[in-house]
Amino acid sequence: MARNGLLIQYDWCTGCHACEVACKQEHNYSEGMCGIKVYELVSSSPEKVYVDFVPALTRFCDLCAERTKTAGEEPACVKHCQATCIAYGNLTELGKAMEKQPRSSLFAPK
Ligand code: SF4
Ligand code: SF4
Repeated sequence: MARNGLLIQYDWCTGCHACEVACKQEHNYSEGMCGIKVYELVSSSPEKVYVDFVPALTRFCDLCAERTKTAGEEPACVKHCQATCIAYGNLTELGKAMEKQPRSSLFAPK
């Protein structure tokens, strides 16, 4: 059976944390629980300091099963990402899309 997942093109991520807020609200998660976490990675060269925002899924991500399977809607984080850098769909198709993305991560929660 085809599995679904999330493709995150973090090159476009602004670090706004709206995905975290949307996930917590959607699931009514308590403090410390969330299906996605946005990490801030700082690196530097002799000339410049770089800050990258890299969202990653946690063990609490259920791919918004109620929304996607029951209501036929997209996951809450996908809907609320203003930068449109999170895509939901079939893992094979997302993998193909990933080949064209400069910096991206593919997640396949259970
Ligand atoms: S797919 Fe749903 S559960 Fe997973 S991180 Fe996004 S909002 Fe949270
Ligand atoms: S909502 Fe989108 S742009 Fe904002 S932190 Fe999450 S992935 Fe990045």
